Amino acid sequence: MKKDAPPRIAVVGGGLAGLTLALALHRAGLGCRVYEQAPRLAEVGAGVQLSPSATRLLHRLGLEPALRAVAVVPEAMEFRRWADGSVISRGLLGKHSEERYGAPYYALHRADLHRVLVEALPPGVVRLDARCTAVEERPDGAVLRFADGSHAEAHAVVGADGIHSVLRRALVADRPRFSGQSVYRGLVDSRRIPGLVAEPRVQLWLGPGRHFVCYPVSGGRLVNFVATVPTSGSGDESWSRRGRVEDVAAAYEGWCADVTSLIGAADDVSLWALHDRDPIERWSTGRVTLLGDSAHPMLPFLGQGANQAIEDAVALAACLREAVPGELPAALQRYESLRRPRTTLVQESSRGNSTAFHLPDGEAQRERDAAMSVPAPERQDWLHGHDVESALASHRPA
Ligand SMILES: Cc1cc2nc3c(=O)[nH]c(=O)nc-3n(C[C@H](O)[C@H](O)[C@H](O)COP(=O)(O)OP(=O)(O)OC[C@H]3O[C@@H](n4cnc5c(N)ncnc54)[C@H](O)[C@@H]3O)c2cc1C
Repeated sequence: MKKDAPPRIAVVGGGLAGLTLALALHRAGLGCRVYEQAPRLAEVGAGVQLSPSATRLLHRLGLEPALRAVAVVPEAMEFRRWADGSVISRGLLGKHSEERYGAPYYALHRADLHRVLVEALPPGVVRLDARCTAVEERPDGAVLRFADGSHAEAHAVVGADGIHSVLRRALVADRPRFSGQSVYRGLVDSRRIPGLVAEPRVQLWLGPGRHFVCYPVSGGRLVNFVATVPTSGSGDESWSRRGRVEDVAAAYEGWCADVTSLIGAADDVSLWALHDRDPIERWSTGRVTLLGDSAHPMLPFLGQGANQAIEDAVALAACLREAVPGELPAALQRYESLRRPRTTLVQESSRGNSTAFHLPDGEAQRERDAAMSVPAPERQDWLHGHDVESALASHRPA
């Protein structure tokens, strides 16, 4: 590696995972360069829920004031029946989350979260219009190749390039798996549905073959919704595109008035075919590792993809902080051995909800509802209560 080589750590992908890693590395005093294929930094217009396991880390990175300015802190998470809206369970968030887990639960517009991360980074960290096409590993580092013919060298390379990851291809020969479901996503001005937003809440209505989620974002000015629909075919042809509001309305005909009135208040929706991948046995080599959706893409039925990416990013930065160049392979192994068991469990649990959330009315559904009567946050201490920095401090790789 030349003396005047580019920064030590190269990150491919400037999504939530890559940007959080860049910030965590920066706070740890490490140089890093992010290579993003898009001509400008942006996120899709939709919502994202962050659990205390991630917000505690973002706060430690110094983002609390900026996040509090744009996030909604929901008071509760409610699961409801599809037809009459009756409550299956109601779990407290708000102050309860802060007391129980030491950090808040947030509902955010993705663009706000993305902007908060970008603004916290020093200028010049992200190179745009840089589509990575290949990675070559060497004993002392790795070389990235880009579509415009340029290349970059680093001591270690991190693939934060999402579910279609180019860097993952260098490690494993798998492909995204279509789930048989798509989601419509929409944002509605909350003044159009005052009754639904009187108390800020995350609400999920469960019904046969589909479920509907909504929560406020952007300081409560907008309500984000996600509506699943079963979809035939491979899904490959329609990864993400505009949808039609009338199709969502038809898919949710007969559901309770809160759901149908929210759909009716939407001007437009996007349509996403949902994919994930199986957990893998290994996501690091000597000088290359994966992070976020490139490592463990999951279905969104536990709302955890971004949360796990943020946990990954902080854990990886902590492992790299303690390593000199010759120790980087051991640092990547330490990161992977800490993170893989947890992200595998979250991937599998997210798939499990794809069946549990969509049961037809009947015996199995009644059993599910009885099991769910323990409110979601209490059932999910293992998710929300996790502190990846404490876990790393006591982690001894096998
Ligand atoms: C409907 C839905 C709802 C969800 N809700 C939640 C939620 O509430 N909470 C939660 O935690 N998670 C949620 N998720 C999951 C979450 O959105 C993802 O897990 C998260 O955004 C992944 O971030 P990432 O940075 O790993 O990947 P991405 O967001 O895919 O970012 C990858 C980046 O890499 C860039 N890139 C790709 N290839 C290349 C290349 N070859 N060269 C250079 N750059 C490249 C891309 O342009 C992009 O900027 C949801 C997902 C869906 C679909």
